[in-house]
Amino acid sequence: MAPKIVQAPERNAPAAPAAAPPSGRPTLSVVVAAYNEEDVLDILFARLGEVLASLGESYEIVCVNDGSRDRTAEILAVHHARDPRIRVINLARNFGKELALTAGLDATRGRAVVPLDADLQDPPELIGEFLRLWREGYDVVYAVRDARDTDSWLKRTTANAFYAMLRRVSNVDIPPNAGDFRLMDARVVEALRGIRERNRFMKGLFSWVGFRQTSVGYQRPVRAAGKTKFNYWKLWNFALDGITGYSTVPLRVATYFGLIFALLAMLYGIYLLVRTMLWGTDVPGYASTMVAVIFMGGIQLVVLGIIGEYLGRLYSEAKGRPLYIVESRLGFEPDRTGNSPEDSHGNADE
Ligand code: UDP
Ligand code: MG
Repeated sequence: MAPKIVQAPERNAPAAPAAAPPSGRPTLSVVVAAYNEEDVLDILFARLGEVLASLGESYEIVCVNDGSRDRTAEILAVHHARDPRIRVINLARNFGKELALTAGLDATRGRAVVPLDADLQDPPELIGEFLRLWREGYDVVYAVRDARDTDSWLKRTTANAFYAMLRRVSNVDIPPNAGDFRLMDARVVEALRGIRERNRFMKGLFSWVGFRQTSVGYQRPVRAAGKTKFNYWKLWNFALDGITGYSTVPLRVATYFGLIFALLAMLYGIYLLVRTMLWGTDVPGYASTMVAVIFMGGIQLVVLGIIGEYLGRLYSEAKGRPLYIVESRLGFEPDRTGNSPEDSHGNADE
């Protein structure tokens, strides 16, 4: 992925006027991943467009259609035709939010980059404040939700438990109640582009790269339209990616289990020995033997499963497949590629 840094022609472009032509380098890039968001896109562009216009900065909006099966692609194409600053990447299938976001970040050219959910749960009005803090010298300005009261009790509790645990077992400090909504300086985005791991947990990577970070509080509203793309099973798998991606503590669990049980077994052995010497043998219990066997068998399977989690991830990383496949792009120069080598048929620019 090294050649990506060579983007000289664009950087030589003359200073961008307020309404930058697609080839200029805008001040701000907004990245929107959209999966089946037909209900919300019009509202999104209306509100986002208004906010961005009021900021008076040159900007681009990079939309990643994550293999939607509804009219998302058509709607995005219409918006691109209306405003060339809205650029579109259509992925070849659904790759999941983390990879869709990666595809978007890879394609941005702005001096500052803001990922934003399509459903307006990340209020674009905050971008002005982001920019102000960025100009003060912060490289990352992330939004922290004041309360999670728009989430269900279960989601809130499990999310809190997960982040508390992640902070304990990993050495990346992921701020609690922060999402992907943030502003990142181009330097940070460049650093993120260099990270090509597949099982990614963007929030973790955002913290992992470091740089000068600060936060802004906000109230997270409910979805403007449409419905959530995440269920508890997806979130659970997401959590596993989070833990395995940033910590190897679970792999050590087996060691401690082993030590504890070896110690207990030794003590129990001594007790049996002494008892037999003093009082002779009695008929040994079937129940206690079974419990010990089943219990140890269970623990061994759990530990194997943990090893399997890491092994499976190792396997998928080792294959080194591209992170995502681009089906077509709107509003990009033909020679510019994100991750796939060729964009032969889809460049419907003109
Ligand atoms: N998303 C995506 N690919 C997916 C799932 C979600 O690009 O496979 C996008 C979705 O379109 C939205 C954002 O990720 O812009 C957040 O999704 P959602 O609002 O459903 O998540 P929630 O806010 O409920 O956690
Ligand atoms: Mg949402």
